[in-house]
Amino acid sequence: MSFDYDLFVIGGGSGGVRAARVAAADGVKVALAEEDRYGGTCVIRGCVPKKLMVFASEYSGMVDDARAYGWDFQAGDFDWSSFKTKLHAELDRLEGVYRNILASNGVETFDQRARMVDAHTVELADGSKKTAKHILLAMGGRPVMPDLPGAELGITSNEIFHLDKLPEDILIIGGGYIACEFAGIMHGLGVKTTQYYRGAQILRGFDDETRGLVCEEMCQRGIDVHLGTNILEMCKEGDKIWVKATNGDERLFDQVMFATGRRPNTDNMGLEDVGVAMGRKGEVTVDDYSQTGVPSIFAVGDVTDRVNLTPVAIREGMAFVETVFRGNPTKVDHELIPTAIFTQPEIGTVGLGEEEAAEQEPIEVYATSFKPMQQSFAGRAERVLMKLVVSKATRKVLGCHIVAPGAGEMIQLAGVAVKMGATKEDFDRTVAVHPTMSEEIVTMKAPVRST
Ligand code: FAD
Repeated sequence: MSFDYDLFVIGGGSGGVRAARVAAADGVKVALAEEDRYGGTCVIRGCVPKKLMVFASEYSGMVDDARAYGWDFQAGDFDWSSFKTKLHAELDRLEGVYRNILASNGVETFDQRARMVDAHTVELADGSKKTAKHILLAMGGRPVMPDLPGAELGITSNEIFHLDKLPEDILIIGGGYIACEFAGIMHGLGVKTTQYYRGAQILRGFDDETRGLVCEEMCQRGIDVHLGTNILEMCKEGDKIWVKATNGDERLFDQVMFATGRRPNTDNMGLEDVGVAMGRKGEVTVDDYSQTGVPSIFAVGDVTDRVNLTPVAIREGMAFVETVFRGNPTKVDHELIPTAIFTQPEIGTVGLGEEEAAEQEPIEVYATSFKPMQQSFAGRAERVLMKLVVSKATRKVLGCHIVAPGAGEMIQLAGVAVKMGATKEDFDRTVAVHPTMSEEIVTMKAPVRST
């Protein structure tokens, strides 16, 4: 049977673009459909614009620090409109880079929505049908809005990059990494920031001590965090949004942002009709090789809801190409993925949290919390945390958790050691880099806890 293409990719985000271009570079005949903008969530409405906003927001504190170091700076106002113009010019540039990568590798692109018709056929929004030997689902995910009266007045992370002007105050709802990162960003940009989270502590799933310190520091810096609090209803009141909370509070905000979870983009894709199984959240069910139950259809990235991070989507895309086009069946390794959370202060983490590790085996915990030299000299009270969770039996470092400026950069390197199976004694044998914050990670002598 002959097909129009060897591979048809649905979705031009991190996973889809990587798979398409690497396969095409190998001589595979590839087409890709993207209904919105190339680069997907990461480039257009995720990691990249968010990190640029983190950078922008961090400058506010630096002026005071510089003054404490003797510089005669005066803090000025933040010009959102000038930043926003530059931000979107940068995103346009990056989208161009993604388009060029696909074109220069010979991937045929369709700027429209695609959906499945059968195991080898997709239908584009213009009604045309394309056939392919293999189809890769890489549609990513989208934010979900809660079902409550007035929710349509709120925004999500998709809209936050497009605000006409910065609000005077904002309510952020949610306790995951996106909610916490934007609380730090908005606060840093001078917006009075309140955060409601229905759970007992923010950043569920991470090491408890790490979560606790970050929450404490966020509060110290002036973010009004309300735990165990959710929103009941909201409505327009003049220029403001009136919000009623479960704790009885009734308050007015300029802006309300929901960061209350994400859902895979599998609605109306025809997946049920072709026999592709999906889980409770609508995520595509795949095996270790990213293959669905329909042998010609594979899925990578957030649409599978495994580990929803850009480098993971990229690796899944690469492993798919190895498996299907290079005759080298490759599973994606989802163990010990280092990751950063760009809260302020930042988190870098790899491996098991203390609680999770203790459930599995006897452990020792090495941890130190202190005021870092640079900030302490400037008179700031903030603390950092360096923590290792160590297996008693094997001495291997099961988890490394850092809360500190630059923690994301630190954890990339600690991640190599942990992934290699480094023991506590390997860390101890490594000479400290002095004077740095991260030297503490190799100088912790006695465990603070042991189970
Ligand atoms: P996506 O990048 O979402 O791409 C999917 C593409 O498919 C989209 O362009 C979409 O328009 C298109 N599409 C969907 N349906 C169709 C269809 N039917 N037809 C045609 N096209 C379609 N990850 C990190 O690693 N680090 C971070 O710091 C980080 N920060 C984030 C911050 C925010 C605010 C958000 C929302 C996410 C963040 N992420 C971060 C997660 C990261 O963006 C995702 O894990 C990653 O983009 C997933 O890639 P993907 O290829 O699976 O999907």
